[in-house]
Amino acid sequence: MKIAFIGLGNMGGGMAANLAKAGHEVHAFDLAEEAIARAQENGCQTYTSVRDAVQGAEAVVSMLPNGKIVEQVYTNDVIGHAPVSALLLDCSTIDVATARKVEDAARAAGYEMVDAPVSGGIAAANGGTLTFMVGGSDAAFAKAEPILARMGKAVIHAGASGAGQAAKICNNMILGATMIATCEAFALAEKLGLDLQTFYDISSKASGQSWSMTSYCPVPGVGPQSPADNGYQGGFAAALMLKDLKLAMEAAAGAGARVPMGQRAEELYEAFAADGNGGVDFSGIIKTL
Ligand code: NAD
Repeated sequence: MKIAFIGLGNMGGGMAANLAKAGHEVHAFDLAEEAIARAQENGCQTYTSVRDAVQGAEAVVSMLPNGKIVEQVYTNDVIGHAPVSALLLDCSTIDVATARKVEDAARAAGYEMVDAPVSGGIAAANGGTLTFMVGGSDAAFAKAEPILARMGKAVIHAGASGAGQAAKICNNMILGATMIATCEAFALAEKLGLDLQTFYDISSKASGQSWSMTSYCPVPGVGPQSPADNGYQGGFAAALMLKDLKLAMEAAAGAGARVPMGQRAEELYEAFAADGNGGVDFSGIIKTL
Protein backbone atom coordinates (compact mmCIF):
# COMPACT_ATOMS: atom_id res chain seq x y z
CA MET A 1 0.00 0.00 0.00
CA LYS A 2 1.24 3.51 -0.80
CA ILE A 3 1.17 5.48 2.50
CA ALA A 4 2.17 9.14 2.90
CA PHE A 5 3.66 9.87 6.36
CA ILE A 6 3.87 13.48 7.59
CA GLY A 7 5.87 14.28 10.76
CA LEU A 8 8.89 12.03 11.32
CA GLY A 9 9.94 13.18 14.81
CA ASN A 10 10.53 11.17 17.98
CA MET A 11 7.30 9.23 17.48
CA GLY A 12 6.60 9.46 13.75
CA GLY A 13 10.14 8.37 12.78
CA GLY A 14 9.72 4.93 14.34
CA MET A 15 6.12 4.58 13.18
CA ALA A 16 7.00 5.31 9.54
CA ALA A 17 9.91 2.84 9.79
CA ASN A 18 7.52 0.13 11.01
CA LEU A 19 5.15 0.73 8.08
CA ALA A 20 8.10 0.43 5.67
CA LYS A 21 9.30 -2.72 7.45
CA ALA A 22 5.82 -4.20 6.99
CA GLY A 23 6.22 -3.82 3.21
CA HIS A 24 4.29 -0.60 2.62
CA GLU A 25 5.62 2.02 0.20
CA VAL A 26 6.07 4.95 2.61
CA HIS A 27 6.23 8.46 1.13
CA ALA A 28 7.64 10.52 3.97
CA PHE A 29 7.90 14.25 4.66
CA ASP A 30 9.11 16.38 7.58
CA LEU A 31 10.35 19.96 7.83
CA ALA A 32 13.55 18.80 9.59
CA GLU A 33 16.39 17.47 7.44
CA GLU A 34 17.66 15.02 10.06
CA ALA A 35 14.20 13.46 10.31
CA ILE A 36 14.13 13.04 6.53
CA ALA A 37 17.59 11.44 6.58
CA ARG A 38 16.55 8.95 9.26
CA ALA A 39 13.40 8.04 7.30
CA GLN A 40 15.53 7.37 4.23
CA GLU A 41 17.80 5.07 6.24
CA ASN A 42 14.69 3.25 7.45
CA GLY A 43 13.42 2.42 3.96
CA CYS A 44 11.04 5.35 3.30
CA GLN A 45 10.97 7.38 0.09
CA THR A 46 11.32 11.05 1.02
CA TYR A 47 9.77 14.17 -0.48
CA THR A 48 10.30 17.91 -0.25
CA SER A 49 6.69 18.91 0.44
CA VAL A 50 3.48 17.51 1.90
CA ARG A 51 1.75 17.93 -1.47
CA ASP A 52 4.38 15.82 -3.24
CA ALA A 53 4.32 13.14 -0.54
CA VAL A 54 0.52 12.68 -0.70
CA GLN A 55 0.37 12.39 -4.53
CA GLY A 56 -1.23 9.03 -5.38
CA ALA A 57 -1.37 7.94 -1.72
CA GLU A 58 -3.88 5.30 -0.60
CA ALA A 59 -3.55 6.51 3.00
CA VAL A 60 -2.06 9.56 4.74
CA VAL A 61 -0.73 9.25 8.31
CA SER A 62 0.36 12.29 10.34
CA MET A 63 2.23 12.59 13.66
CA LEU A 64 2.57 16.33 14.32
CA PRO A 65 3.19 18.54 17.39
CA ASN A 66 -0.19 20.29 17.85
CA GLY A 67 -3.67 21.09 16.55
CA LYS A 68 -2.72 24.30 14.79
CA ILE A 69 -0.11 22.51 12.67
CA VAL A 70 -2.44 19.56 12.00
CA GLU A 71 -5.14 21.96 10.78
CA GLN A 72 -2.69 23.85 8.55
CA VAL A 73 -1.18 20.71 7.03
CA TYR A 74 -4.56 19.09 6.25
CA THR A 75 -6.33 22.26 5.10
CA ASN A 76 -3.53 23.61 2.93
CA ASP A 77 -1.73 20.53 1.65
CA VAL A 78 -3.61 17.25 2.14
CA ILE A 79 -7.31 17.93 1.45
CA GLY A 80 -7.68 18.50 -2.28
CA HIS A 81 -4.15 17.19 -2.97
CA ALA A 82 -4.25 13.54 -1.86
CA PRO A 83 -6.56 11.33 -3.95
CA VAL A 84 -10.09 11.56 -2.53
CA SER A 85 -10.03 7.76 -2.09
CA ALA A 86 -7.13 8.07 0.41
CA LEU A 87 -7.92 7.33 4.06
CA LEU A 88 -6.63 10.13 6.34
CA LEU A 89 -5.29 9.18 9.80
CA ASP A 90 -4.07 11.81 12.26
CA CYS A 91 -2.17 10.16 15.13
CA SER A 92 -1.05 13.43 16.82
CA THR A 93 -2.41 14.39 20.25
CA ILE A 94 -4.55 17.47 19.66
CA ASP A 95 -7.67 19.13 21.04
CA VAL A 96 -11.02 17.46 20.40
CA ALA A 97 -12.53 20.55 18.73
CA THR A 98 -9.74 20.87 16.12
CA ALA A 99 -9.82 17.12 15.43
CA ARG A 100 -13.58 17.34 14.71
CA LYS A 101 -13.14 20.49 12.60
CA VAL A 102 -10.43 18.94 10.41
CA GLU A 103 -12.40 15.69 10.06
CA ASP A 104 -15.53 17.64 9.06
CA ALA A 105 -13.53 19.51 6.41
CA ALA A 106 -12.09 16.24 5.11
CA ARG A 107 -15.51 14.60 4.95
CA ALA A 108 -16.99 17.63 3.19
CA ALA A 109 -14.32 17.16 0.50
CA GLY A 110 -15.23 13.46 0.17
CA TYR A 111 -12.47 11.84 2.29
CA GLU A 112 -12.73 9.36 5.16
CA MET A 113 -10.68 10.45 8.17
CA VAL A 114 -9.98 9.18 11.70
CA ASP A 115 -8.29 10.67 14.76
CA ALA A 116 -6.00 7.95 16.13
CA PRO A 117 -3.84 9.27 19.00
CA VAL A 118 -1.54 6.87 20.78
CA SER A 119 -0.64 5.71 24.25
CA GLY A 120 3.00 4.64 24.65
CA GLY A 121 6.18 6.65 24.20
CA ILE A 122 9.16 6.64 21.87
CA ALA A 123 10.18 3.06 22.73
CA ALA A 124 6.67 1.82 21.85
CA ALA A 125 6.71 3.85 18.60
CA ASN A 126 10.05 2.27 17.64
CA GLY A 127 9.01 -1.20 18.77
CA GLY A 128 5.59 -1.13 17.10
CA THR A 129 3.78 -1.61 20.41
CA LEU A 130 1.65 1.54 20.62
CA THR A 131 -2.02 1.52 21.67
CA PHE A 132 -4.24 3.45 19.23
CA MET A 133 -7.59 4.95 20.26
CA VAL A 134 -9.57 5.72 17.17
CA GLY A 135 -12.40 8.17 16.49
CA GLY A 136 -14.37 7.90 13.25
CA SER A 137 -17.11 5.97 11.44
CA ASP A 138 -17.28 2.15 11.49
CA ALA A 139 -16.28 2.10 7.81
CA ALA A 140 -13.27 4.38 8.37
CA PHE A 141 -12.18 2.35 11.42
CA ALA A 142 -12.35 -0.89 9.42
CA LYS A 143 -9.93 0.60 6.87
CA ALA A 144 -7.67 2.20 9.49
CA GLU A 145 -7.30 -0.86 11.71
CA PRO A 146 -4.92 -2.95 9.52
CA ILE A 147 -2.67 0.08 8.91
CA LEU A 148 -2.47 1.01 12.60
CA ALA A 149 -1.97 -2.63 13.62
CA ARG A 150 1.44 -2.49 11.87
CA MET A 151 2.52 0.19 14.36
CA GLY A 152 0.84 -0.99 17.54
CA LYS A 153 -0.20 -3.83 19.79
CA ALA A 154 -3.80 -2.62 20.25
CA VAL A 155 -6.20 -0.65 18.05
CA ILE A 156 -9.46 0.32 19.76
CA HIS A 157 -12.49 2.03 18.22
CA ALA A 158 -13.36 4.76 20.75
CA GLY A 159 -16.42 6.12 18.91
CA ALA A 160 -17.29 8.84 16.41
CA SER A 161 -15.04 11.66 15.15
CA GLY A 162 -12.97 13.17 18.00
CA ALA A 163 -13.56 10.21 20.35
CA GLY A 164 -9.96 9.03 20.05
CA GLN A 165 -8.68 12.42 21.25
CA ALA A 166 -11.30 12.46 24.03
CA ALA A 167 -10.15 9.02 25.26
CA LYS A 168 -6.49 10.05 25.08
CA ILE A 169 -6.83 13.20 27.19
CA CYS A 170 -9.12 11.55 29.75
CA ASN A 171 -6.62 8.70 30.09
CA ASN A 172 -3.69 11.08 30.50
CA MET A 173 -5.60 13.19 33.02
CA ILE A 174 -5.85 10.03 35.17
CA LEU A 175 -2.15 9.40 34.60
CA GLY A 176 -1.09 12.93 35.65
CA ALA A 177 -3.20 12.88 38.80
CA THR A 178 -2.27 9.32 39.84
CA MET A 179 1.43 9.98 39.29
CA ILE A 180 1.32 12.98 41.64
CA ALA A 181 -0.78 11.04 44.20
CA THR A 182 1.72 8.15 44.03
CA CYS A 183 4.69 10.51 44.43
CA GLU A 184 3.26 12.26 47.45
CA ALA A 185 2.30 8.97 49.12
CA PHE A 186 5.90 7.68 48.78
CA ALA A 187 7.23 11.02 50.10
CA LEU A 188 4.92 10.85 53.11
CA ALA A 189 5.69 7.15 53.69
CA GLU A 190 9.39 8.04 53.87
CA LYS A 191 8.77 10.88 56.34
CA LEU A 192 6.75 8.49 58.48
CA GLY A 193 9.74 6.15 58.64
CA LEU A 194 8.49 3.43 56.30
CA ASP A 195 10.97 1.50 54.17
CA LEU A 196 9.97 2.44 50.59
CA GLN A 197 10.38 -1.08 49.17
CA THR A 198 8.16 -2.38 51.98
CA PHE A 199 5.57 0.31 51.29
CA TYR A 200 5.66 -0.65 47.58
CA ASP A 201 5.22 -4.34 48.45
CA ILE A 202 2.14 -3.45 50.50
CA SER A 203 0.50 -0.76 48.36
CA SER A 204 1.14 -2.51 45.03
CA LYS A 205 -1.02 -5.36 46.35
CA ALA A 206 -3.54 -3.11 48.09
CA SER A 207 -6.06 -0.50 47.00
CA GLY A 208 -3.43 2.21 46.36
CA GLN A 209 -2.12 0.27 43.36
CA SER A 210 -2.06 2.01 39.97
CA TRP A 211 -0.11 1.93 36.69
CA SER A 212 1.94 4.88 37.99
CA MET A 213 3.05 2.70 40.89
CA THR A 214 3.50 -0.80 39.45
CA SER A 215 4.60 -0.04 35.88
CA TYR A 216 6.35 3.30 36.32
CA CYS A 217 7.34 3.62 39.97
CA PRO A 218 8.71 7.15 40.64
CA VAL A 219 11.13 5.89 43.34
CA PRO A 220 14.60 4.74 42.18
CA GLY A 221 15.35 1.09 42.90
CA VAL A 222 11.74 0.24 43.72
CA GLY A 223 9.35 -1.61 41.35
CA PRO A 224 10.20 -2.38 37.71
CA GLN A 225 12.87 -0.53 35.74
CA SER A 226 11.57 3.00 35.08
CA PRO A 227 12.94 6.50 34.30
CA ALA A 228 13.43 6.97 38.08
CA ASP A 229 16.30 4.45 37.77
CA ASN A 230 17.83 6.61 35.07
CA GLY A 231 17.87 10.01 36.82
CA TYR A 232 14.36 10.75 35.47
CA GLN A 233 15.70 10.94 31.92
CA GLY A 234 13.94 9.40 28.89
CA GLY A 235 10.35 8.27 29.25
CA PHE A 236 7.51 10.81 28.99
CA ALA A 237 8.65 14.43 29.34
CA ALA A 238 6.85 16.65 31.86
CA ALA A 239 6.23 19.19 29.06
CA LEU A 240 4.24 16.56 27.13
CA MET A 241 2.23 15.66 30.24
CA LEU A 242 1.52 19.37 30.70
CA LYS A 243 0.41 19.62 27.04
CA ASP A 244 -2.09 16.77 27.54
CA LEU A 245 -3.39 18.21 30.83
CA LYS A 246 -3.95 21.58 29.14
CA LEU A 247 -5.91 19.83 26.38
CA ALA A 248 -7.97 18.07 29.07
CA MET A 249 -8.69 21.38 30.87
CA GLU A 250 -9.69 22.99 27.56
CA ALA A 251 -12.03 20.10 26.77
CA ALA A 252 -13.49 20.16 30.30
CA ALA A 253 -14.18 23.89 30.05
CA GLY A 254 -15.89 23.38 26.68
CA ALA A 255 -17.99 20.50 28.00
CA GLY A 256 -18.84 22.13 31.35
CA ALA A 257 -17.18 19.29 33.33
CA ARG A 258 -15.72 19.77 36.84
CA VAL A 259 -12.18 18.34 36.99
CA PRO A 260 -10.57 19.60 40.24
CA MET A 261 -7.91 16.85 40.42
CA GLY A 262 -6.96 17.30 36.77
CA GLN A 263 -6.78 21.05 37.31
CA ARG A 264 -4.46 20.69 40.30
CA ALA A 265 -2.27 18.26 38.34
CA GLU A 266 -2.05 20.82 35.54
CA GLU A 267 -0.99 23.54 38.01
CA LEU A 268 1.70 21.33 39.57
CA TYR A 269 3.12 20.24 36.18
CA GLU A 270 3.02 23.86 35.00
CA ALA A 271 5.17 24.91 38.00
CA PHE A 272 7.48 21.89 37.54
CA ALA A 273 8.03 22.68 33.85
CA ALA A 274 8.50 26.42 34.57
CA ASP A 275 11.35 25.48 36.96
CA GLY A 276 13.33 24.14 34.00
CA ASN A 277 12.05 20.55 34.22
CA GLY A 278 10.08 20.41 30.97
CA GLY A 279 12.46 17.82 29.54
CA VAL A 280 12.56 15.73 32.72
CA ASP A 281 10.42 12.58 32.88
CA PHE A 282 7.02 13.37 34.43
CA SER A 283 7.67 11.04 37.39
CA GLY A 284 10.51 13.42 38.38
CA ILE A 285 7.86 15.62 39.99
CA ILE A 286 8.49 13.48 43.10
CA LYS A 287 11.59 15.64 43.70
CA THR A 288 9.31 18.61 44.46
CA LEU A 289 7.11 16.76 46.98
P1 NAD B 1 8.48 15.76 17.70
O1 NAD B 1 8.56 17.23 17.93
O2 NAD B 1 9.64 14.90 17.99
O3 NAD B 1 8.03 15.48 16.19
C1 NAD B 1 7.16 16.30 15.44
C2 NAD B 1 7.72 16.38 14.03
O4 NAD B 1 6.80 17.12 13.21
C3 NAD B 1 9.06 17.10 13.96
O5 NAD B 1 10.02 16.26 13.32
C4 NAD B 1 8.77 18.35 13.14
O6 NAD B 1 9.85 18.76 12.32
C5 NAD B 1 7.58 17.89 12.32
N1 NAD B 1 6.77 18.98 11.79
C6 NAD B 1 6.34 20.10 12.43
N2 NAD B 1 5.59 20.85 11.60
C7 NAD B 1 5.54 20.19 10.42
C8 NAD B 1 4.92 20.46 9.17
N3 NAD B 1 4.20 21.57 8.97
N4 NAD B 1 5.08 19.57 8.17
C9 NAD B 1 5.81 18.44 8.37
N5 NAD B 1 6.42 18.13 9.52
C10 NAD B 1 6.28 19.00 10.54
O7 NAD B 1 7.20 15.28 18.55
P2 NAD B 1 6.82 13.77 18.96
O8 NAD B 1 7.34 13.48 20.33
O9 NAD B 1 7.14 12.86 17.83
O10 NAD B 1 5.23 13.93 19.13
C11 NAD B 1 4.37 13.93 18.01
C12 NAD B 1 2.93 13.84 18.53
O11 NAD B 1 2.79 12.63 19.27
C13 NAD B 1 2.53 14.98 19.46
O12 NAD B 1 1.20 15.35 19.15
C14 NAD B 1 2.65 14.37 20.84
O13 NAD B 1 1.79 14.97 21.78
C15 NAD B 1 2.24 12.94 20.55
N6 NAD B 1 2.76 11.94 21.53
C16 NAD B 1 4.07 11.96 21.90
C17 NAD B 1 4.56 11.01 22.81
C18 NAD B 1 5.99 11.00 23.24
O14 NAD B 1 6.33 10.28 24.20
N7 NAD B 1 6.88 11.72 22.58
C19 NAD B 1 3.67 10.02 23.32
C20 NAD B 1 2.34 10.02 22.90
C21 NAD B 1 1.89 10.98 21.99
